[in-house]
Amino acid sequence: MNILYNFFNKSIPASVVVAVFSGLFIGTAFGLSIPVIVASNSEKVASYEEVAAQVMVEDVLRIAGRSGTEETGLSYVTLPGIQKYDGPRLAQTMPIETKETWLSWMSRNRRDDPVFLEERWQWAQDLVLSSELKRPEDVRAFLLTPREHFVRAVNKGLEYANTWLPIGYGATITDPDVVSMMTTTLNVQPGDKVLEIGTGSGYQSAILSYLTKDVYTIEIIRPLFIETDALYRDLEKNFPSYSVINRKLGDGYYGWEEFAPFDKIIVTCAIDHIPPPLLRQLSPGGIMVLPLGPPNRQYIMEIVKKEAEDGSITLSRRDVYNGQSVKFIPFRDESGMSYSTPLPPEDINLP
Ligand code: SAH
Repeated sequence: MNILYNFFNKSIPASVVVAVFSGLFIGTAFGLSIPVIVASNSEKVASYEEVAAQVMVEDVLRIAGRSGTEETGLSYVTLPGIQKYDGPRLAQTMPIETKETWLSWMSRNRRDDPVFLEERWQWAQDLVLSSELKRPEDVRAFLLTPREHFVRAVNKGLEYANTWLPIGYGATITDPDVVSMMTTTLNVQPGDKVLEIGTGSGYQSAILSYLTKDVYTIEIIRPLFIETDALYRDLEKNFPSYSVINRKLGDGYYGWEEFAPFDKIIVTCAIDHIPPPLLRQLSPGGIMVLPLGPPNRQYIMEIVKKEAEDGSITLSRRDVYNGQSVKFIPFRDESGMSYSTPLPPEDINLP
């Protein structure tokens, strides 16, 4: 896969960077996505040689111009005008009528560890039976996403267990049934631009990359962002749809203004109100799915934004689990403080 991981240190003038690249330029095929990672500090994520081996000089020039727009943190974005890998098309070509036809297609077209395939098939059938996965598109996305790579090694054996699992830094990979329910509710169409808040393990965005080519995700914990970014880079060799996942280190409360509006927004950390910037960045007619509620319990809400001709906005909301609560880790700011109002002490142990 053609990947550019760059580390434009702001102290290096773009002209110097371009000169270095030009000298080392080897060339690459057109038509593949060329994401770029931009760091505002001097963190090294790839060597000049690695980068130069994979990029056209013209792209370097465009990227160099672009790097100046990132003021904080790390981000990884696919450049506009570059053809992106078509995960939804791959998903459509995969037969799912019987386990045998699916397994044979998987063994011909992918490099998954066969040990997990049987397990993944059965698990997806269970999610369909429980009605948490409804659309064939979503079933396909779940069947294509190797959860075993996103669950951490310490939880070996639990890759397809129906439970959330710790992934370090106080974060978790969400329970598969909740991921299914939220994905089903999001109703992603192939052309949708989707924003996820809380990249975490990267699993949810990996699923999304088989539903649309336009995926954006934000994570606030720096080492987790770096870990998951490295994981995607590694996995892209066998699972190229992850190259369409644009990712940013930052506070998702403020969304990703540069790429707004989004047709769909999925929030995977708990909050007791809808962040106004996210609501603003949601397209008219767009859907936001988020765990809404006090710190000790949340309800998965589907929010639909409607804009009248006079510009007035109305929201409709639906509790997708109809009263059953879930518990997500807090939506927090850069200092680690939760965005939700703390509970009074007498409420802390309420179910
Ligand atoms: N979607 C993830 C679930 C991660 S758990 C997955 O598929 O694995 C929730 C994540 O939200 C955590 O990684 C946490 O660090 C992140 N988070 C919390 N507050 C955030 C914020 N303000 N901006 C972005 N991410 C945030």
